[in-house]
Amino acid sequence: MVGAGNAALTAALSASESNAQVLILEKASRSDRGGNTAISSGMMRHSHGGKADIIKLVDETPQCGWDGISIPPYFAGRFYDDIMSSSKGRADPVLARVLSEKSYETVRWMKEELGTKFVLNDALATVINGVLKFEGPEALKIKGGGIHMSNGLFEKCEVRHNVSIMYGCAVQGLLVESGKVNGVSISRNGRKEKIRAGSVILGSGGFESSKELRERFLGSRWGMAKVRGTSNNTGETMLAAIDAGAMMYGDMAGCHATQIDARAPNYGNPGLGDSTQRYSWPYCILVNKDGMRFADEGKDFINVSYAKLARDILMQRDAVAYQLFDGKTSGLLRDEYGSVTGITVQALDEFNGKIDVDTCQLMKTVKSFNKGAGRLGKFNSEIRDGCRTEGVEPPKSNWAQAIDTSPFTAYPVSCGITYTYGGLRIDDKAHVLRKDGTWVEGLYATGEITGGFFYGDAYPRGTGLMRGAVFGRIAGAEASASFK
Ligand SMILES: Cc1cc2nc3c(=O)[nH]c(=O)nc-3n(C[C@H](O)[C@H](O)[C@H](O)COP(=O)(O)OP(=O)(O)OC[C@H]3O[C@@H](n4cnc5c(N)ncnc54)[C@H](O)[C@@H]3O)c2cc1C
Repeated sequence: MVGAGNAALTAALSASESNAQVLILEKASRSDRGGNTAISSGMMRHSHGGKADIIKLVDETPQCGWDGISIPPYFAGRFYDDIMSSSKGRADPVLARVLSEKSYETVRWMKEELGTKFVLNDALATVINGVLKFEGPEALKIKGGGIHMSNGLFEKCEVRHNVSIMYGCAVQGLLVESGKVNGVSISRNGRKEKIRAGSVILGSGGFESSKELRERFLGSRWGMAKVRGTSNNTGETMLAAIDAGAMMYGDMAGCHATQIDARAPNYGNPGLGDSTQRYSWPYCILVNKDGMRFADEGKDFINVSYAKLARDILMQRDAVAYQLFDGKTSGLLRDEYGSVTGITVQALDEFNGKIDVDTCQLMKTVKSFNKGAGRLGKFNSEIRDGCRTEGVEPPKSNWAQAIDTSPFTAYPVSCGITYTYGGLRIDDKAHVLRKDGTWVEGLYATGEITGGFFYGDAYPRGTGLMRGAVFGRIAGAEASASFK
């Protein structure tokens, strides 16, 4: 097993259920373990038939009791449709089908066999006529977020007699004999070694943490992006698999990215989690260092527009922009804004010297924005309100109120990459495939290292963890069955 995020650990635990001997090789030290999984928010999208199915996954009865709660079903067919539509039909239909259809049984397995704890995702619930209504797709999240999930999976591995973990062990290559993968080459404590294995499962993440690979596959500006997750997902195992005959697959130029605090460190960690994200941009105007707007901040809800706007920011000078709010919208800011100080002034010209923006141009930009803002539609943060600009370039399509009420607050933001979309081609059994569709014998993959699921700017939120778990469980079972 290569890696020790959610994808690899579920694969390890699945394989160990069939009594296979499992060795997990993880690049990070024990204290830095967990990969992106340990940093994630822990939202998990899965299919279900409504409240009765959700009750089976949650241990604690909610305060208002189950009667006061409504959870619409989210059937596998809709999950499949969401994957296909968010990718504009480009996702691999076989992989999308497996992911959507096996998602519910996988979360049941995680709860019952691996001890993963789920709670209702009340951040996305709304009260309607006295009933608390949850979102079907993301009704649940991991209790305590990704770090708890990660710790729980490690604890489970540690008590299984047939699972061992080697930390500080960077896999550098694959050993191949007569076309079959039968081990890996590693570097550990400055020494290089070879480790033989009956089969190898790659769960070693995407390539988002390698500046060089970001520039090569995503484009040269991506070298300037910050990484929201671990610094360890540097893609060398993906390249090693390609050397061994595997097919590169999916949206190699695509990634999930979003606006994060421009002052955030270059890489994430479990302590930071998702606290650096800045998700209230639909209510602001975004200006670059030249004081100019450059994008439609209100094009759509955040989960549809985050990747595009993050990329737009990357294209600005120094890959930095400022979210500018006025007094009317400051009450709408999400919790994560509480963790930092925005730069607040009573009049726009007071920004001079306080933020790295051409303030004269900023004032002109706000003036011309305000001329065309708030004329059409009525502001409503809950819906695409059609409150749009008229005669303003670029337009703001929704939530376009004038920036005219003090105090004014600016938050510096930059592009934070979450993970890459392209990777290795797998089939429904998590076999890594060659271009001709045959299996690179002995090699399996799961999680962020695989491609073919996500494309372009939109992504069905909460599917990253689910994809790793569904195919991790399959990879572990298939790899251990291959020895029998
Ligand atoms: C801030 C943030 C919030 C997120 N929130 C969510 C969310 O709410 N819901 C959701 O579904 N997804 C979320 N995600 C995405 C999610 O974290 C990932 O999709 C998922 O964790 C990927 O799991 P993985 O096991 O494939 O990769 P990882 O968890 O990153 O694990 C990969 C492991 O491989 C190791 N590794 C890398 N290279 C090597 C090598 N050469 N040798 C040995 N080991 C190696 C790494 O050290 C790492 O431990 C979020 C991500 C971030 C960064």
